[in-house]
Amino acid sequence: MIVLVINCGSSSIKYQLLDMKNDEVYDLLAKGLVEKIGLPDSSLTHKPTGKEPVTIETSIPDHKIGMRLVLDALVDPDHGVLKSFDDIEAVGHRIVQGADYFSGSTLIDDDVMEKIGICCDFAPLHNPAHILGIEAVSQVLPDVPQVATFDTAFHQTMEPYAYMYALPYEYYTKYRVRRYGAHGTSHQYVSQRGAKVAGLDLANSKIVTCHLGNGSSVTAIKNGKVVDTSMGFTPLEGMIMGTRCGNIDANIVPYLMKKENLTPDQMTDILNKKSGLLGISGKSSDVRDMNALAAEGDQRAKIALKKLSYDTIKNVGAYIAEMNGVDLIVFTAGIGENNARLRRKICESFGFMGVKIDNEVNDNAHSETILSTPDSSVKVALIPTNEELMIARDTMHIVAALED
Ligand code: ADP
Repeated sequence: MIVLVINCGSSSIKYQLLDMKNDEVYDLLAKGLVEKIGLPDSSLTHKPTGKEPVTIETSIPDHKIGMRLVLDALVDPDHGVLKSFDDIEAVGHRIVQGADYFSGSTLIDDDVMEKIGICCDFAPLHNPAHILGIEAVSQVLPDVPQVATFDTAFHQTMEPYAYMYALPYEYYTKYRVRRYGAHGTSHQYVSQRGAKVAGLDLANSKIVTCHLGNGSSVTAIKNGKVVDTSMGFTPLEGMIMGTRCGNIDANIVPYLMKKENLTPDQMTDILNKKSGLLGISGKSSDVRDMNALAAEGDQRAKIALKKLSYDTIKNVGAYIAEMNGVDLIVFTAGIGENNARLRRKICESFGFMGVKIDNEVNDNAHSETILSTPDSSVKVALIPTNEELMIARDTMHIVAALED
């Protein structure tokens, strides 16, 4: 089944076209990115498998025109990979926020669209863009079934004591204020894949997954189901991130708003875009820059980096205690897949309980790898995340069931 996977951001559209043979076997036919929608220098970069990539710089005022450009690129006589739009059998969309409406992927209909719309309140930068993407596909491919895969769905198995905030209960019932988590598609993929690579029975396993990228979250997964995750009502909660503060004392918010005369929007911007590694270092949100600065002796970069490993260790430790043990620790995403030093530091912290990785293997690992030594009490793995594959699988299953 040929599945187009779409990830619409506020000013971008990422896509992959996959020919799914089954859950494990697939061909990536093309991928690409529409950038800077609505800005003067907008462009499409299209990478067809086996052909030269192309970049088209053109005016892309909105998502509808961006999506049309993507679809045209897929059937273009020179850099296309399909004969016609009819070859696209299904479209899967990544949706950031599904709140407690969705505990799995679902076929998109009017009711689903309405609920994605209600969830815009919790993800104002993302969900409106997802709606534009779905509508744009509907206009060009009206007969192709579309599926929504939610970043929050995998975390819906959390118990109330894990997802409730200790706030007056009415804010939960009136405004749905609770913890939803994020990165769920990634945590689900790497836990399932990690269990397979490590030879574990997922249904009888305790796994901690560390998705460490610009946004970072750690998740506890017992018998294949999430028991807790570090992100909360929004992806701001939890550990230090590139530009997000993670956990802080909530009283800091009104305190700073009064001191600096800030509006709620300005405060939100500071917490989400000016904090984290960038906030502490004052120089960059990128771990590679942080490493270079620390090597030059920059004290603030050193604190920021130390806090990144410290926060990860605190979350992993808490989840091991919560699950009463752990069989597998998984690292994924930009930092988790590429920063061997951080992986080693985190694993060394659990050396007291017999976690042991092979430093040489760890230093050279960039693809799926078991990092732990055979005598380690816990398996440790690097699993590159693949959210698009997860979305394509769910889309394939849901659409195939329609046809049966
Ligand atoms: P996003 O959450 O935006 O998808 P990524 O998963 O791409 O982010 O992670 C970005 C982070 O990964 C940055 O801090 C970057 O420094 C780090 N990173 C990416 N590639 C490397 C690399 N080769 N070595 C070290 N760190 C890397």
